[in-house]
Amino acid sequence: MAKVLCVLYDDPVAGYPNSYPRSDIPEIAQYPGGQSLPTPKRIDFKPGTLLGCVSGELGLRPFVESQGHTLVVTSDKDGPKSAFERELPDAEVVISQPFWPAYLTQERIAKAKKLKLAITAGIGSDHVDLQAAIERGLTVAEVTYCNSISVSEHIVMMILALVRNYIPSYQWVVNGGWNIADCVSRSYDLEGMSVGTVGAGRIGTAALRRLKAFDVNLHYTDRHRLPAEVERELGATFHPDAESLVRVCDVVTINTPLHPETEHLFDDALISKMKRGAYLVNTARGKICDRDAIARALKSGQLAGYAGDVWFPQPAPKDHPWRSMPHHGMTPHVSGTSLSAQARYAAGVREILECWFEKRPIREEYLIVSGGELAGAGAHSYSVGNVTAGSDEAARYRR
Ligand code: NDP
Repeated sequence: MAKVLCVLYDDPVAGYPNSYPRSDIPEIAQYPGGQSLPTPKRIDFKPGTLLGCVSGELGLRPFVESQGHTLVVTSDKDGPKSAFERELPDAEVVISQPFWPAYLTQERIAKAKKLKLAITAGIGSDHVDLQAAIERGLTVAEVTYCNSISVSEHIVMMILALVRNYIPSYQWVVNGGWNIADCVSRSYDLEGMSVGTVGAGRIGTAALRRLKAFDVNLHYTDRHRLPAEVERELGATFHPDAESLVRVCDVVTINTPLHPETEHLFDDALISKMKRGAYLVNTARGKICDRDAIARALKSGQLAGYAGDVWFPQPAPKDHPWRSMPHHGMTPHVSGTSLSAQARYAAGVREILECWFEKRPIREEYLIVSGGELAGAGAHSYSVGNVTAGSDEAARYRR
């Protein structure tokens, strides 16, 4: 019988909710492009409830225990004395969300002698040392598409918040003041601007589709070019690399996975090629940007604004410079864990576990690593290597 070790974020400060603002969430028939939503045999949770925190347990306990397996759920994930490290040596399956990642470094994988499967409840498996996973023959799987649209909505929100100077204007109201000139001296229209995405996969393309309505000029770069009819539909200009794209864009959004090719892609050198006063929105992964280069560019005015919800490591230490740099619109990592998204990825995790326990193949599009190599979505969008270095800094965050 297997031990399933599940790392989830803490419950709300006031305790697990007993009511919600809305009584249901919309039913989505399928993802854009036709991929089906998760297809578990059944679910033991109500869609629209809080599933991603410790008490929500991704709705998995009845299923896991009915199969005779053990489920351990904890939020205590960082440092050698954490519950995660204590429970890891005899776990067969580890489940973790990118919002509150249980970093599976080479050292931790070496200690986890029984580990066979690492599931990302969400998208983006960079918190696993994929090189070490390949060498150990682990399977790494994520719930592809589960929150791609959620993030694309967040990107549009963050672009508008920065360009129109929403957050400082809101602060004037909250603080009891009323200085319109102060609010608008950094406020522009998005209309007519050039907006580009680095990475035009599920999120990048969905963001372009949503932004088209704002009458902007769209640009993208990606390892694979979009089909000609999609380029035509969007009126999007392809660039061979990020440098060519950032030179012409007023707003840049980052939508690639974090892997060795994209780690610290936005450093001083690339940021210096951006238009002065450009806006950068990063909901992909914090480590795609050089932390200090971003803070410097905001202080110098090279960037007019930076927003996103991804940090490195997570949780970010209290003194992380992105908490205090000027003109930012940062949130904790939330864009892909709306209640709507949670219902999809909890069902996707259930589907993967059902396949695993019944020895049925996991959907190809969910695979990142399998059989000692990158596989499925991983083979398409990642490069081999490890990007977890420095993740032990997460232990510096104190609740
Ligand atoms: P996709 O795999 O659909 O898209 C990723 C795209 O990035 C692919 O088109 C891929 O190219 C492209 N890409 C990879 N490497 C490069 C590179 N070096 N240069 C240019 N393009 C590159 O994934 P999603 O769009 O669904 O998600 C993207 C990422 O967003 C995730 O990996 C995750 O890190 C992050 N994410 C964040 C969330 C949040 O809550 N903030 C939630 C969900 C995801 P190709 O495949 O053509 O090779």
